[in-house]
This record gives sequence, structure tokens and C-alpha cells, in this order.
Amino acid sequence: MKGISFPDSGSAILAVSLVKAINDNTAYLSEVDGAIGDGDHGINMRKGFDRFAALAAEKKVVNASEGFILLGTTLMTEIGGSMGPLYGNLFKRMGGFIRGKEIDSSVFLEMLKEGMEAVIEIGEAKIGDKTMLDSLSPGIAAFEEATSGGSSFAQALDAMAAGAEQGAAATVSMIAKVGRASRLGERSRGVRDAGATSCAILLTTLADAAKRLL
Ligand code: ADP
Ligand code: MG
Repeated sequence: MKGISFPDSGSAILAVSLVKAINDNTAYLSEVDGAIGDGDHGINMRKGFDRFAALAAEKKVVNASEGFILLGTTLMTEIGGSMGPLYGNLFKRMGGFIRGKEIDSSVFLEMLKEGMEAVIEIGEAKIGDKTMLDSLSPGIAAFEEATSGGSSFAQALDAMAAGAEQGAAATVSMIAKVGRASRLGERSRGVRDAGATSCAILLTTLADAAKRLL
């Protein structure tokens, strides 16, 4: 987390915020994963995000696009478990999509949709399978609904965070259909999904950081 010094202070705020959020929630995410998984989700995520922080400090990352691409490629190579390729491709695709673009609310929305598409392509999970998609998808839907209803970018970001958190909470009643927890069948019901929880934390953090930059 220490030492990120992007020339563009906006992308530095974003990167530092995301890395800090994962560090602050490492134990919680592993605890959530421990209930129906193998208890490594927080550690996996922190390993990847800390490595990103170190690389971002070393390399000259100049904007959010480059930051997301570096985060994505780092997660792909550094994280063990299912999440490396899933989060890796999510951030890589988001970063590629915003390259050279001014980020207004419609570009932000398309960026998130592109990222989710990458997760679906790689993981082939469906909405309701009790995965990270179950906070990502309602977060995106809430953002879209807010903007199409005339809300400001900042209000839509708040809606996205709330939608993602509600989605993560709703995974409690779902049965895992993919990933490690799916082996438990009906017994996977009753607790939150770890990936949906981390994704809600990341979207909430992204929303807060983006609001500070508006
Ligand atoms: P592992 O399951 O290998 O221990 P993690 O604990 O880091 O990896 O991540 C577990 C999370 O991965 C799950 O909570 C779920 O949200 C997510 N996940 C697993 N498989 C998929 C998939 N095919 N698509 C989307 N998310 C998935
Ligand atoms: Mg795990």
C-alpha cells in the first residue's frame, strides 16, 4: 500500500483506496470464505493487491486506465484460487475500455459492463450462482437505473454501492452452483459468498474514490 506515487493524483487516490480496502478486510473475507470455502479469499486478494501496490509504486502508471490494466495483469499472475483470472480480467478489461476516454457516467457504466462480460466469459457463471457476479450485476443495474432516472454521477455511484452490498447480502439465501462451495450443494445456503462480498467492498470503495474525484 505504501509508496504509490502516480503522477496523476486521481488514479493514485483510486489505487490506494482499493489496496487499503482489501487490507482492511483481509481477515473478514477469509472468514466469509471459511464458512463454505477454504478460507483463503482474503489472503489471496491481499497478496494480489499488495503486489499491485508495489508494482504501481515502481512503474510510472499515469492514469486510471493504466492503473486498472496493471492491477488486472498483476491479479492474473499473483492470485491463487479462482479469483486471479476472474478479477484479473475484470480490471484488465475495464482499464482497456477507458483508455484515452474522459470518464463520464455513461463511459463508467460501459466500463463496468465490459468488466462483468469478461468475468462471465472466463468463469461461465450465471447470475444467482452465488458468486461475485451477484454483487457486481446488481451494483451495475443500480447505477444504470439511477443515471437513466436522472440522478447525478455521484448519486448513481452511491446507488451502485448500495446495490452491490444488497446483492452480496442476498447471496446468503443462494445455493452455490459454481466454484469450490458448489460441492456442498444445499449446505452452501445460509452464509454470504466471499467473492460477492469482496466485489461489494471494491465497488463501494471505487464509488467513494470516484466521488472524491468528480
Ligand atoms: P478458491 O475458491 O479457489 O479458494 P477464492 O476463495 O479466492 O478462490 O474465491 C472464491 C470466490 O470465487 C467465490 O466466493 C466466488 O464468488 C468466486 N467464484 C468462483 N468460481 C467463480 C466463477 N466461475 N465465476 C465467478 N466467480 C466465481
Ligand atoms: Mg477460497
